[in-house]
Parts: sequence; C-alpha cells; structure tokens
Amino acid sequence: MDADIIVIGASPAGVMAARNASAQGCKVILLDKKVDVGVPTHPANTFFKGMFNRTGEEVDQSYVIKNLKGAYIIAPSGKNVIFEGDAYFLDRKKFDEFYVKQAKDAGADVRFGIEVLNVLRTDDGFIVSTSKGKIKCKLVIVSDGINSRIAALLGMKPIKHNQDIAWSLEAEIEAEGIGEPDYFEYYVGNHAPGWKSTYSPCGGNRATLGMYVRRHGTDVSDFFDAWLEKFKELKGLDDVKIISKSTGGDPIVAIPGDLVADGVMIVGGSAAQSGIGYGMHAGQMCGDVAADAISKDNTSKKFLSEYRKRWNTAYRAEYYLGRFAMEALRKMTDKEIDGMMEVFEGEDLKVLSGSPFNQALQVSRMILKNNPSSILSYRAIFRNK
Ligand SMILES: Cc1cc2nc3c(=O)[nH]c(=O)nc-3n(C[C@H](O)[C@H](O)[C@H](O)COP(=O)(O)OP(=O)(O)OC[C@H]3O[C@@H](n4cnc5c(N)ncnc54)[C@H](O)[C@@H]3O)c2cc1C
Repeated sequence: MDADIIVIGASPAGVMAARNASAQGCKVILLDKKVDVGVPTHPANTFFKGMFNRTGEEVDQSYVIKNLKGAYIIAPSGKNVIFEGDAYFLDRKKFDEFYVKQAKDAGADVRFGIEVLNVLRTDDGFIVSTSKGKIKCKLVIVSDGINSRIAALLGMKPIKHNQDIAWSLEAEIEAEGIGEPDYFEYYVGNHAPGWKSTYSPCGGNRATLGMYVRRHGTDVSDFFDAWLEKFKELKGLDDVKIISKSTGGDPIVAIPGDLVADGVMIVGGSAAQSGIGYGMHAGQMCGDVAADAISKDNTSKKFLSEYRKRWNTAYRAEYYLGRFAMEALRKMTDKEIDGMMEVFEGEDLKVLSGSPFNQALQVSRMILKNNPSSILSYRAIFRNK
C-alpha cells in the first residue's frame, strides 16, 4: 500500500478529513487537479461565525479581508430583516492555504496538479489511477465537489434532489465606495427563482454580486444581468465595473444520499454538504471515523456508517427543515414573500436558538404574533411548481 487513505479533492471538507485522519496517525495522500492550492480560486468566500463555530475552529484574521456585522434579508417590497452576528469576507486563497498547511503539518502528503481518473477496487483496497500514475490505498475519501465524477464511477449516488442544486454566477465588481457597508444583502423573490441574489461588500471600492437560481438550468447569466441592472438602480450607480465572473453549483437545498460504501466515504459538496463551515465539520467527522477504521483494520460499510450516524445527529433535521423552507420560498409569489417578511420585521433574530425544531417553534410564535395570515403562504409548498 502507498497510503492508508487517499482523499480526492482539496475542498474545505477534504482538507479537514485529511488533516484529522493524519493527526491520528494515518498515512494520507490528498490529491487535487488544481495547479496549486487556491489556483484557480473558488468563488465561495463568505461565512457567518455561527455556522463556522460548528467546526470548533477559531476564525483566523490572517485570511479575513473584511469583518462584517451580519446580513439583511430583503423581500421584493424592500421590507427586510437583519441577522446580526459576526460574518466574514475571506481571501479564499489564503483560507485554503491556511488549512492545507494544517493538513501538511499533521503529516498529510498533499499533491496538487494531479487528476484522479478512476478508482478500482482490489481484494485489499483500491488502485487510484491518476494523471501521474497509480496509487494503492485501503480507503478512499471522495471530496471532488458538486460535479463529482468519482462517486458515480464507484456506483454511488451521494446527492438526493439533484435537480435542486442552485446554479450561480458570482461577479467581483468595482464602484466608488461599494465595499464600505458592514452587512451582506440577500434579496429573495421571483427575480432569483428558488434562492437569492447577493451583494457582499469586501472593503473600499470592491464587492461581489451573486445570483443563485434553482430549476432554470445551469446558465443563470440572464438572471444575473437583470440583477446587475436592478442593483445599479437600487444603489443609484451609473456604472459598475465587472472585474471577474465565476460560475458553479451550490447544493444548498439538496440532501446527502449515499455517504459510505465498503472502503469509501463521500464528503463536502459532492455529498450535498453545502457551505464552507458545514463541509469542514463533515470533513472532520469523516476523517475521525476513517482514522478509527484504519486503526481497527475495518473499512466495511457497516463500520464507516458511524460517519453517517454522526452527520445525521448533527445536521439531518436541519437540512430537511431548510429544504422545506427553501421549497416553500421557491413556490411563493412575491406578495407571499413580502407577507412572510412582515413576521420577522423588528424581531431580534438572535434569540432563535436550540434545535431546528425549537427554532421552528419560535418562528411559529412570531408568525402568530405578527402576521398570522402569513402562515397561509406556506401552502405554497403543496403547489405543483
Ligand atoms: C458561486 C458560488 C459561491 C458560493 N459561495 C459560498 C460562500 O460564500 N460561503 C459558503 O459557505 N458556501 C458558498 N458556496 C457553496 C460552496 O461552494 C460549497 O459548499 C463549498 O465550497 C464546498 O466545496 P465542495 O465540497 O463542493 O468542493 P470544491 O471546493 O469544489 O472542491 C472540490 C475539489 O476537488 C477537486 N477535484 C475535482 N475532481 C477531481 C479529480 N478527478 N481529481 C482530483 N481533484 C479533483 C477540484 O479541483 C476541487 O479543488 C458557493 C458556491 C458557489 C457555486
């Protein structure tokens, strides 16, 4: 064997899996087809402390470009609610370098510029065929992102509700003072079917604008162009310079499917574990269970299912509740979204705490207090749309 574990893809989840398994004494090789860490840079570059805290890691200011105070969620009418809480705009390349260094320091052998072409089972493990030769290992962790090819090659279906991946276009923009505000702005409504458009200030004259759309194909450029015009109008800007654009898929409303098979674990966007923080946390769980499997010489699906169990305990209810809310949002009219927003106007959303069910109960109380008829807008979930 060349390694105990091969991790395919240096996503935030894959890097954490490699770090945790290496730290527990496993011989780990992490492979990524990118030419180098963070090259090209992934467009995901923001998160909230509340979400990142789930990883148990501390945010390190060395990779933060701008500290923000939270986010406005803005309805079609302009009514809005504020989520107060520490949030960050990241230098994503530095962020990736920071955690790849941790994986290396823990002993992982991290290799960029290597594409995995195939994974073949053998009697005692796997042969991983790459653009630079074959490598043998006992266990494979697949973390190759939203368009995972490797999971399919292994006969696994790690994403349920594939049709609900939010396809997106994000642009870095420049305009006078555009980076100054201290809050992200997320706009919901039928201009961004199924999810949102975004404005994320990152200091000075720089910001990003994003458009995330579900069930309208993978090319969302028309939606983005309309959003750019609306944004200029909203902010009274004559011109906005586009510096760069990137596209991709965010599995925010999809649900993890197969996470394990004999000798295989899937983690991160390739298993619908959307979001940097949630992906990293799942990667930690995956790496811990993988290390245990190697030390006990048991890489059976049954043994590896401990990773699924841990993930289910931490996130399953949250993901299903999130999916319910996002599906209702996708089917609501702009008028219904406006009515729903009235429920939260003026409420301190920091008080929402506890399990997903507790939070749902707290929201129900707000609905009854502020706009009981808005509950009817959730009927949208039954619409065939
Ligand atoms: C435009 C956009 C903006 C987003 N913004 C945010 C955000 O601000 N905050 C947030 O929390 N989430 C955001 N998301 C969601 C976020 O992308 C993901 O949740 C997160 O980055 C998880 O990454 P991933 O697991 O999908 O894998 P990726 O980060 O895509 O990593 C997969 C890695 O696998 C490598 N790879 C793929 N195939 C192979 C192969 N065959 N051989 C070797 N290597 C391979 C790739 O090179 C890549 O490095 C955004 C998504 C998009 C599309």
